Amino acid sequence: MNPAFTVLIVDDEKHNRSLLTELLGEDYRLILAKNGEQALERAREHRPDLILLDVLMPGMDGHAVLRQLKHDDTTRDIPVIFITALDSTIDEEKGLELGAVDYITKPFHPPIVRVRVRNHLQSVHQRRLLEQLAMLDSLTGIPNRRRFNEVFELEWRRCLRNRDAVSLLVIDIDHFKRFNDDFGHTEGDEVLRRIAGTLQRALRRPADFVCRYGGEEFVILLPGIPMEGALALAESARCDVEAQRVPAPGGMQLPVTVSMGGATCLPQRAEPDHALFARADAALYAAKRGGRNRVVWSPASAAGEAAAPFAAAAGRD
Ligand code: GH3
Ligand code: MG
Ligand code: MG
Repeated sequence: MNPAFTVLIVDDEKHNRSLLTELLGEDYRLILAKNGEQALERAREHRPDLILLDVLMPGMDGHAVLRQLKHDDTTRDIPVIFITALDSTIDEEKGLELGAVDYITKPFHPPIVRVRVRNHLQSVHQRRLLEQLAMLDSLTGIPNRRRFNEVFELEWRRCLRNRDAVSLLVIDIDHFKRFNDDFGHTEGDEVLRRIAGTLQRALRRPADFVCRYGGEEFVILLPGIPMEGALALAESARCDVEAQRVPAPGGMQLPVTVSMGGATCLPQRAEPDHALFARADAALYAAKRGGRNRVVWSPASAAGEAAAPFAAAAGRD
């Protein structure tokens, strides 16, 4: 089905490993382990998409391996199919109770093993697609607020370790209610899509991140970028939005603008500091008050707390 899938085969008997390799080797990337310790080690290292786990093994048995896998965040979600000579319903129940997704008894019937493996990998594939979709904004196709929260946490920690700055931009479309009222919601939606695309194209580094935070608000996260660089990127993105035209009924080409508030800080603690967001928001508010279509940056504050914003680069109205 999909050679991109990796399957870990755990069995103490060489004969069984060879049999399963023959059965599945053409369709998947296989990793082999001959005891419980090796299984755990390889599962953590390779993060396989599925594990075929023998129950009866000398030393750590399959049940013990599964318990350990379930204790580790990096391996908890990997589906495990027990493969075993045990065929008592008690053992099957125990395996399923521990969190195995399926149970195959030896001697196995090759076509059944193949189909079961394929079915479980299909579920894995579908679950991943759903997870990805749940992180995207359906209107614009860019990441949503949920994904932002995840990325913010990860990047915050990375910057803390590297003693790097984190910059954050909150972006809001100007007079968007009026645009909707004048030209309709469908045209408004098109504006959102176009601005999402423009902001995405304005990013430069792989870690730069944009999301639709909600309604007509976007957020750009710039990990490792100090204020000067972030301000330059913001100003250039603002100009890109200002330069584009949105087609509207009657052949009109309409300008749209955005206001942006930015803030920068040096992470001090492991938990993301939401004061950074509050400062960027306050700067956005100042940009709106100052006449819109401009970028305002919040001044640095030693304690990382909210501070009164000051005008940085101002665009034209
Ligand atoms: P300001 O310049 O102060 O931000 O004014 P504004 O009109 O943009 O601000 P306000 O918060 O009053 O209005 C936001 C508008 O955004 C109202 C709402 O209809 C519109 N909006 C929010 N989400 C969507 C959406 O998904 N599609 C469309 N078309 N409009 C949306
Ligand atoms: Mg708004
Ligand atoms: Mg607005």
